[in-house]
Amino acid sequence: MLEQLRSIVQKVNAAKDLQSALDIIVHRVRDALDTQVCSVYLLDSDLNSHVLMASEGLNREAVGHVSLDLGEGLIGLVAKHAEPINLQDASLHPSYHYLKETGEENFHAFLGVPIIHHRSTLGVLVVQHEERRRFDESEEAFLITLSAQLAGVIAHAEATGAIEGISPSGHKTSDTVFHGVSGSSGVAIGHTVVVFPAADLSQIPNRPAKNIDKEIDFFNNALNSVRKDMRELHGKLAGHVAEEERQLFDIYLRMLDDDALGNEVVQRIKAGSWAQGALAFVASEHVRNFEMMNDEYLSERAADIKDLCSRVLFYLQEKEPVVTEYNNDTILVSEELTPAMLVEVPKEKLKGLVSVKGSGNSHVAILARTMGIPTVMGAVVFPYNQLGNKEIIVDGYKGEVISNPSDQVRKRYLNTIKEQDLLIAGLEDLKDLPCETADNHRVHLWVNTGLMSDVLHSLDQGAEGIGLFRTEVPFLLRERFPSEHEQLEIYREQLQAFAPKVVTMRTLDVGGDKSLSYFPIEEANPFLGWRGIRVTLDHPEIFMAQIRAMLRASIGLENLQIMLPMISNINEVNSAMQLIKKAHHELIQEKLEVKFPPIGVMIELPAAVYQTRALAKLVDFISVGSNDLTQYLLAVDRNNPRVANLYSAFHPAVLSALYQVVSQAQEEGKQVSICGEMAGDPGAAVLLMAMGFDILSMNAATLLKVKSVIRSVSLEAAQDLLDQVMQMDDAQMIRSAVDLTLYNAGVDRLLRSSRTN
Ligand code: PEP
Ligand code: MG
Repeated sequence: MLEQLRSIVQKVNAAKDLQSALDIIVHRVRDALDTQVCSVYLLDSDLNSHVLMASEGLNREAVGHVSLDLGEGLIGLVAKHAEPINLQDASLHPSYHYLKETGEENFHAFLGVPIIHHRSTLGVLVVQHEERRRFDESEEAFLITLSAQLAGVIAHAEATGAIEGISPSGHKTSDTVFHGVSGSSGVAIGHTVVVFPAADLSQIPNRPAKNIDKEIDFFNNALNSVRKDMRELHGKLAGHVAEEERQLFDIYLRMLDDDALGNEVVQRIKAGSWAQGALAFVASEHVRNFEMMNDEYLSERAADIKDLCSRVLFYLQEKEPVVTEYNNDTILVSEELTPAMLVEVPKEKLKGLVSVKGSGNSHVAILARTMGIPTVMGAVVFPYNQLGNKEIIVDGYKGEVISNPSDQVRKRYLNTIKEQDLLIAGLEDLKDLPCETADNHRVHLWVNTGLMSDVLHSLDQGAEGIGLFRTEVPFLLRERFPSEHEQLEIYREQLQAFAPKVVTMRTLDVGGDKSLSYFPIEEANPFLGWRGIRVTLDHPEIFMAQIRAMLRASIGLENLQIMLPMISNINEVNSAMQLIKKAHHELIQEKLEVKFPPIGVMIELPAAVYQTRALAKLVDFISVGSNDLTQYLLAVDRNNPRVANLYSAFHPAVLSALYQVVSQAQEEGKQVSICGEMAGDPGAAVLLMAMGFDILSMNAATLLKVKSVIRSVSLEAAQDLLDQVMQMDDAQMIRSAVDLTLYNAGVDRLLRSSRTN
């Protein structure tokens, strides 16, 4: 059975289009189950009906012509309940709906199973037989297993038709939505330009080298050509993005200079392989290693290596360069977009980006956010290789791509773009105004930073302090731990740029999804493992170097605060405090005039919520890391797209934990802030302000939006809203209540939760 299943799925996978895939299914399943009829009905949402799309055993003329309304007949029943129906005699069932064109009156036994993809029912797979008998359990299990495996293939084939504007049954269709995740917010309408990697590394056969020295020269020349190209691209970035982001691009360049990669290829050529084969082998090894890394940021680097090596391969294959013509309204699309592909497009022509693979952590998404280009990542079913020059809409708010837009939808999005431009222009005026409510309650808006460019951008947005400097970011961008002196320089730059405003530096938070390539942590449950303060307390030498660097960097500026991540008990705080005191004492002994900075803890674990009071007694301030707190309270991996719908900071349990933290910190007379993503959600920010948070710390890009919303509500209205939502027991209801309050306060729809509609 397993063999048959595998072989059917393989054949269907290789089919050229939806109809051929369905024809293979009905033919092969009828044979495998040794039955008389196998048919597939697919939902055509434009027609609101299930259409008989393929059949082996029913009248051929009926295929493509016969359909059942939603809920009609046994097909409708299977689809509605999303459950199999197995009947000895279908005609006796009350829902049986006879379709005379099919000739099905001869068949009594009926087994129908739903075809479900990502919770939505695409159609029904049916087998029928003349005899009056129930299909047995193993036949039912076979059909269910097969249907589950085929659903993805059918969804993909349907998507391919949809991009051409054709529904499963061949009708014209419009406004097909392809889901991904948001890479960079905003909306763009434009025409697709699809780019492919320069050359395909997976298609290189193994061959011996005819002349080893010549192959080595050939490879070195190719490497030099790519180096030259990359330097040119690097130059093109100047002026488009901040210097730090250009440095991200430098890493890319350095991979070529890196002795490791080039050297490995040369060693393989010396061992007898031709240059192309040696390159393909080394590339695939590196790509595999990177892809296996737990850290999302690092696993995304596999795409960079692939791109780089295929550029070298391109020169080895002595291909003619492909000159891409970019439209004036280019939406750049690729299976796996890379920063190099992005910067090849003239800036004024680039309107949006769509990548089939990748996440919000991909380099290309980081660059897109800096450049303000609406981007959708991970649009897995988007049939990119079928696209020519096609008009599409990129909705970077929702992470959706819309093909064949109807006039109505296009008009709606054009309005959104206009509103977006007006909104952004209007927000500029708020930069120098205080963040206070309509009834004069003052809230402080700080920012989260990682790179130096974040700092510059933040100051530009009127940030009043840094609530979270993720010190691990500069660690992630290196090939070894930065020395105390190197850290000092990085920290000094941040402190100086913001002085006299406060900069809160978090001690190294690695582990979980952030592991350093030069300090790998292999664990079965990394989020419950060696992470944050647990790592640094076990490695006091790393912790001490970091604290010394922070303290030294603050000399004469005195705007430093230090914050400890992933605290689960008071012993961790006591131990960390001892080390900080030791570092301070050492520096005093070294005759440096270092002030002892305020120390705070992050509340990120449920255990810490219940210990807020005890923790607050030990430190100067409390800061809630709501990203992790939500993940740990709800037991939902913050990076797993399968459970992303369960991850909500509006969950009543999360709100009640936050409220408890604020109240207890206030009772201890300690300042309390929040630095998770929810602080940058304007609706959530209103609730957080009402709870009593003194400081909301967020991504600089959201700061003016939050300020604008807070300035349009009164503290009284926010507190009434908070009282209401604290009585609610469902995240969705809470979202709606917040949305309604913002609506009543006249807040622009692009700043509310529903955003583009
Ligand atoms: C958090 O967990 O909310 C937080 C701010 O830290 P990070 O996102 O870096 O884990
Ligand atoms: Mg965290």
